[in-house]
Amino acid sequence: MRDGREPYAYCPYCRAEMQDNFVFGRTRRVCPECGFVHFVDPKVGAGVLAEQNGKVVLVRRGVVPAIGSWCLPSGFVEYDESPAEAAVRECLEETGLQVRLTGLLDVTQYVSELRGPGIIILYRAQVVGGEPRPGDDASEVGFFGPHELPADIAFPSNRRALARWREEMTSGE
Ligand SMILES: [Zn+2]
Repeated sequence: MRDGREPYAYCPYCRAEMQDNFVFGRTRRVCPECGFVHFVDPKVGAGVLAEQNGKVVLVRRGVVPAIGSWCLPSGFVEYDESPAEAAVRECLEETGLQVRLTGLLDVTQYVSELRGPGIIILYRAQVVGGEPRPGDDASEVGFFGPHELPADIAFPSNRRALARWREEMTSGE
């Protein structure tokens, strides 16, 4: 599945007309001049389910998609950083909070979002410093106990992670 935009008509490197060729197991756009192959591959995102005093940190989205909904602090991984580094950086940018990652929570795929298909890598984390202050894509930072989670949570990956967290936190009740 593509991201909703037209496939490359011209090679981004040598500007020759691209064509459809069967290469590496499926039909892809290929440049007959320089051999560039356009792999339509997923963007990689990383985020955190970060806790402080038994509550989870969520941000209210200030941008599309899902503007106004709540989600886990997360964002795209830059080409020169690890997913773990990206998760920590995005959390700091969006919430003002420093976190320490404590484990891998989930790796899931999505096929239909504003910027095309992607993979989201979620980590568990503990807040270790900073002051809550929304920034970047976030308009608000909130702490929610397992019985206080907002109804409008964006993205299936976030809803699954938070449902599991809530179950875990309330299993002894
Ligand atoms: Zn080319």
